[in-house]
Amino acid sequence: MFILKGIDQLTSAIAKAKKVRPRVEFDCFGRYRVSGSKGYYTVICRKDERGYKTVACTCKGAERGLACYHAAAALSLHIGLARQKPSA
Ligand SMILES: [Zn+2]
Repeated sequence: MFILKGIDQLTSAIAKAKKVRPRVEFDCFGRYRVSGSKGYYTVICRKDERGYKTVACTCKGAERGLACYHAAAALSLHIGLARQKPSA
């Protein structure tokens, strides 16, 4: 899990996502399934109680606090959806 502070953090993850082009499946708002080398990973994007945007992924990299490409792929969908939601 990592805290999303800015897009800079995701630059390399986005570049990798563009190259790998993982499949992103919408589960519910804030919850996505992203295809990876070993099947699907679940990415959860949410705001914690202090207002920080947190992103959790079930892959090994995210366990160590890295911004993985699954998270970057899910976030691009999440941000698009959040923009469409008037209350988000
Ligand atoms: Zn991941």
